[in-house]
Amino acid sequence: MKIIDLRSDTLTLPTQPMLATILTAELGDDGRLDANGRGEDKTINKLEDMAAALTGKEAGLFCCSGTLGNQAALFTYCRPHGLVLVDELQHLYGSEKTAFDSRFGQMEPLFYKFDADFMPDLADLEDKLKNNNVSLLCLENTHNFTGGTCVNLDRLAAIRKLADKYQVPIHMDGARLFNAAAYLKVSVKEICQYVDSVMFCVSKGLGAPVGSLLCGTKAFIDTAKETRKLLGGALRQGGIAAAPAIYALEHNIERLSEDNANAVHCASLLTDLKKIKVQASVQTNIVMLDLADAGITPVDFCAKAKDLGLLIRPILKTSVRLVFYNAITADDASEAASIIKKLDNEL
Ligand SMILES: *Cc1c(COP(=O)(O)O)cnc(C)c1O
Repeated sequence: MKIIDLRSDTLTLPTQPMLATILTAELGDDGRLDANGRGEDKTINKLEDMAAALTGKEAGLFCCSGTLGNQAALFTYCRPHGLVLVDELQHLYGSEKTAFDSRFGQMEPLFYKFDADFMPDLADLEDKLKNNNVSLLCLENTHNFTGGTCVNLDRLAAIRKLADKYQVPIHMDGARLFNAAAYLKVSVKEICQYVDSVMFCVSKGLGAPVGSLLCGTKAFIDTAKETRKLLGGALRQGGIAAAPAIYALEHNIERLSEDNANAVHCASLLTDLKKIKVQASVQTNIVMLDLADAGITPVDFCAKAKDLGLLIRPILKTSVRLVFYNAITADDASEAASIIKKLDNEL
């Protein structure tokens, strides 16, 4: 039986040409800094400069994970008890936690609401900004736990205006930033012009084995580099990981629209389900299935799907998630849909 594995886009494996870049990568000690604050690993420097150019920021910082990139940003902007505006389902709050943990960052979350399209609600944001001494506003684009939904340029512009009015910086968790750009049909630079800093992952749909880039002003990145070191994230010959990441940025950005299309295709086949509710507007490479009224737990549902050759993951309390990436074809998407239809029929 062929197994269709839709648990996560972190399952992407490096291709041979991607791996081959490692053997010829120019390496050095990224922890030894020159007068300009740059390390000695030329491959990391090249990747950071590419990331800065793509996002339209002055500088980039290579981090071994998205978690490290986000947390380095939070610890650079904020101090203990600093108030951070987040949504309740945000990855850097709910999954990563470090900045908000009583043993570590001790920052305080302040929650903003979504509108019906899962974009930050402007009236609520303004209310929170006006009535609190907020240190930082965090966005997530695409938004993972609402099913890969995007914040569009109009909303980003409006949020920027509010943040400026109350003089609060904006950090964007763009783990899947390039999927958002593909859906919105804009460059990542256009998206990032509205935020002070952004983190994106090369280890998800872009297909590199390791890493994320944090981008922002030169001054911000200089400080974030010190923060990254405090968090244990300084690298030595990290060019070994940066080389495949460069390959990913050079070759794999365009194809993300295929992943988005396969997710939409799968969802489009999931009509007339009896018990399961499919996410209404699938935008990027994630499809959420709501099992709240299906009479089965997400864990049990995933176990049944596994028996039929479909690997999916429980998420939140009553949902399961399907994620599309380069190893998943349009046929796989169709097959995944028919397995879910079959299971729904048996509920
Ligand atoms: C995956 C993810 C991260 C963190 O990336 P890791 O490399 O797994 O640490 C951050 N934010 C979002 C929204 C993610 O989906």
